[in-house]
Amino acid sequence: MELDGDIRTTPRGFHCTLCKVNLPNLPSLDQHVKGRKHQTLSTVRSTRKTQEEHSVFVSGIKSDISQADITEYFQKFGPVADVIMDKDKGVYAIVQFSETESIQAALSCAEHQMKGLKLRVKPREKKEFKLIPKKKNDSQNLQQVLDRLKPELCQLASVDAQMQYVVGRFQLGDSEKKARGLLVELLQEVFIEFFPDSQVLPFGSSVNSFGIHSCDLDLFLDLENTKVFQSRARSTTEQAGEGMSDDSRSEDSILSDIDLSTASPAEVLDLVATILRRCVPNVHKVQVVSSARLPVVKFHHRELNLQGDITINNRLAVRNTRFLQLCSGMEDRLRPLVYTIRYWAKQKQLAGNATGAGPLLNNYALTMLIIFFLQNCKPPVLPTVAQLKDMACEEEECVIEGWNCTFPSQPIAVPPSKNTQNLCTLLAGFFSFYAKLDFASSVISVREGRALPITDFLSQKKQEEVTSEEQPTKTPSHHYPKLGPINLLDPFELSHNIAGNVNERSQRNFQRECHEAEKYCRSLQYQCKSSKGKSWGLVRLFTPHGEIPHTKAEQLTISIPFKSASLPEELCDQLHVAGDRFRLLWCQKVCSAVEEVLKSVLRCRLSPSSDTVFGEDSAVDPADTMETASASLNTSTNESCDSVESPNETSPQGTAVVGAKRSLSSGSDASLSPQGKKPRLARGGKPEFPPWICVQKHTVWASRRKVRRELIKDTDSKPEGSCVELESQVTAHITEKEPELKEPLEFKVQPQMVGGTESTRAVLKLEPISDKSGVFHDFFHFLEAFLPKMVDTLLEKKIGSV
Ligand code: ATP
Ligand code: MG
Repeated sequence: MELDGDIRTTPRGFHCTLCKVNLPNLPSLDQHVKGRKHQTLSTVRSTRKTQEEHSVFVSGIKSDISQADITEYFQKFGPVADVIMDKDKGVYAIVQFSETESIQAALSCAEHQMKGLKLRVKPREKKEFKLIPKKKNDSQNLQQVLDRLKPELCQLASVDAQMQYVVGRFQLGDSEKKARGLLVELLQEVFIEFFPDSQVLPFGSSVNSFGIHSCDLDLFLDLENTKVFQSRARSTTEQAGEGMSDDSRSEDSILSDIDLSTASPAEVLDLVATILRRCVPNVHKVQVVSSARLPVVKFHHRELNLQGDITINNRLAVRNTRFLQLCSGMEDRLRPLVYTIRYWAKQKQLAGNATGAGPLLNNYALTMLIIFFLQNCKPPVLPTVAQLKDMACEEEECVIEGWNCTFPSQPIAVPPSKNTQNLCTLLAGFFSFYAKLDFASSVISVREGRALPITDFLSQKKQEEVTSEEQPTKTPSHHYPKLGPINLLDPFELSHNIAGNVNERSQRNFQRECHEAEKYCRSLQYQCKSSKGKSWGLVRLFTPHGEIPHTKAEQLTISIPFKSASLPEELCDQLHVAGDRFRLLWCQKVCSAVEEVLKSVLRCRLSPSSDTVFGEDSAVDPADTMETASASLNTSTNESCDSVESPNETSPQGTAVVGAKRSLSSGSDASLSPQGKKPRLARGGKPEFPPWICVQKHTVWASRRKVRRELIKDTDSKPEGSCVELESQVTAHITEKEPELKEPLEFKVQPQMVGGTESTRAVLKLEPISDKSGVFHDFFHFLEAFLPKMVDTLLEKKIGSV
């Protein structure tokens, strides 16, 4: 085999300089050279070479010059094959000719004038073609950091020492803080030129005592004094006559173009962006993001390799940063806990949205969860925000945008905690606390240091009462936190759910990882240093997801989470009235909806399970709970359930419920009445409702999408599960067209109510009884996605149809 220029012989075989790989022998070399990678790179290289030989580099253009303008101009030197402009600024272009001779023609022209611009035209630099190694991705970087951290942590004596080490390893160093401080000073100097009397105030992790090496620099540009300055200058001008201002700054300033009292935030931020671009050295990638909750100007500082964010109207953030500083100052255990938990959450991909927006917890929200946990330790490690308010003196009183933000300015004003638990115990406590928290039914209040019942926030009227007592200066219309899978109220802006961006999946993952961590923290590997040099303590906690095998057996359960954010208004009111018993009422509604889906939408034949006798005696749940719930149900919700059309009416084949013990779809709530059947407590202590035995004769899950598409051909497309009638029609279509299963599928569905000690949800346990056709798993997987969507639709429909 003849060696080409890319192949070198080495003492161990061969080396391909193009692909940067070693090959041990001739056959492997032959295979490599014929292989895709080598072939592709060779082709790319020769294409590049041709391009280089046919093109010139043009600079001195402006961003308003188009590709077409350049093509038109250079056509006079020969046919132009392509023009590549630089994307960011439009200051240079590469013009590729079809013939090499055109290059000489272009280069020999003494002066290039186009649309009033003087262009510079140069030959292309001949660059050696090199394979650029792919950038390491985030997870590789995380892994590398952990690989270096592991041996260092393992040799320490205790988990407490490991946690302190984590702080030292990640915290912002003095020189970094100094560099950030200098940048703030520089920005202050520049901005004051344009916005007289303005102030640039850092907030967030750069200054809240929880910053890490790569954290961003959050800045608040306070323009309050500038507004005052502007109005004063305006009135002086008016008094003195046009152009007679006594302060020349307002005349020179580009601020004179903008009136801050009327300008929109977007206009002001555009101006801020222009100043950053033009006047601050080393700043690039300046971008205004007006769509964020708080519009922001983002920039990057080259020399410091630092991402910066500038906001206006963000005084509350400066104050909550002060609050975090105070917490760190009064409790030494907070920083090790925050650094450790932030790192754990990052490793498990539970927190830290890469681009700012995303469905994960952000670091601020995660820190508040830690503070809330510490407020709930026994005895408490940190006081509540309401208690801190009472510890402040008169001069420390602070109200921002109507929200009371009072707390002592110095940690010394706060009595030390009586809690003496070490870091190792507190960390384990954090995981255990959140593994058990019923997120779906709680609104976490760091202000009060307790979880408020979600039902308080389900009725708008009640909400107004609660919030207006607390914050009399605010108008009630501002008081509805956006509810979601995690409801975590800001300590000061009480209408704001700081975890409002978190989706169900992120909440589930967070709680699942807390469960895993809690289990691990109970083991000796967590608490005791390994004498054999094995990983122990924090190291295993930091191991990214997936490395520790999960041995859980497959559980055929379907979860229907309690989603406070998407409940119909009327049901919200009913649940609000039900108070503590809201779970039971909600679960009842869900069971009713599930029964309807199985029976009338999917045409299962339902019958009661013979192995379960549900009656007064078997109901272990306190009878009064059930009865009171039933009383509130009867007054407010019975009719809504009763009004649902009977499934039998919609079933052309007349598949009927055969003596179901609890007929949910026709007077379902009766099962909660003293005469009716009640949920009993199952072995795990969770209330269970009577099960159904279901028989399905058709593969109603197969080709549903296709049938649905055919049925809705001419109408608006409806997502799966969003329309009861349509889904029933799809089933009817399938049952008419498709042959029956040789052996019908028989299975049991056991509904269970979960909540209180974990996130509120209805859980359906499915179990095959007879599955000779082997279709149970297919049906189950279909139901897993279909049932929760249909239940949402039905809850909405039933309530709406009252
Ligand atoms: P890091 O930048 O290291 O992720 P951080 O503490 O600076 O951590 P950011 O997300 O940058 O967190 O937030 C900076 C500041 O902005 C916070 O300290 C807080 O004052 C405010 N903030 C962030 N997220 C929210 C939120 N969801 N609600 C209210 N204020 C927030
Ligand atoms: Mg930040």
